[in-house]
Amino acid sequence: MSEIMKILVSDFDGVICDGLEEYFHSSRLVYQRIWGDYSGDWKTIKTQFEILRPVVETGWEMPLLLRALTWGEKTQNLLDNWLAIRDKIVKYLSLEGINVEKIAQALDEVRRQQIEEDLDKWLGLHQIYQPVLEKINSILNQGNRVYILTTKGGYFTRKIIERAGINIPDSAIIGKEAKRPKYESIREIIKREKVEATDICFIEDRLETLELVHQQPDLKEVKLYLALWGYNTEKTRERAKRLGYIRPLSLPELLSWDCRL
Ligand SMILES: [Mg+2]
Repeated sequence: MSEIMKILVSDFDGVICDGLEEYFHSSRLVYQRIWGDYSGDWKTIKTQFEILRPVVETGWEMPLLLRALTWGEKTQNLLDNWLAIRDKIVKYLSLEGINVEKIAQALDEVRRQQIEEDLDKWLGLHQIYQPVLEKINSILNQGNRVYILTTKGGYFTRKIIERAGINIPDSAIIGKEAKRPKYESIREIIKREKVEATDICFIEDRLETLELVHQQPDLKEVKLYLALWGYNTEKTRERAKRLGYIRPLSLPELLSWDCRL
């Protein structure tokens, strides 16, 4: 396998880590901070939130999703039209003097606060996918490199990675502070490691992100995998199967996976 794969590049949320409990908890804290408490049933909202997690690209969208749900927006409509609804909410919020940066900042703040108050409790809201952890460690033990590309803050990702016992350098965790799309980070990794696009395997649970990589003429040879255990819908998985250049990968398949397209 070490002859085949040189570098594994992996998304974090939904691929390495299931953080649904934490996303909901922290988003709810942000919601309460910005809009005050919600008098309806948070349990129902949580169920809807979990179904809707695949539409979220970046953390700041999660409190907005809660806002839309507490407004009574229907799950199916949000699944089908999240980008348009999200942009409408953003426009509406700007009238109230609230912007995306403020929400993203509030999310970072509630996370930092939880880490300061009770790190174990915060870490306990995250579940690492065991087969992924095993795979990453075996790849590292074979002398291959692993990078983590995430829209989460690198600081938070590092805390979870450390606890999980994944031993990679800080420079191999590229978080939202990089402020660039993932395909740019892949380009950067290719340059840094002095390898070819074909030496990179990229696992991600968001189909649009994989498609964007493939649209880059210089990254066409990157091997792309859709993590079927992550945050994606049946519709997305079906679409991925029809695209010849993306290989859908299940959790059992991962264990015997040798990254050969
Ligand atoms: Mg993800």
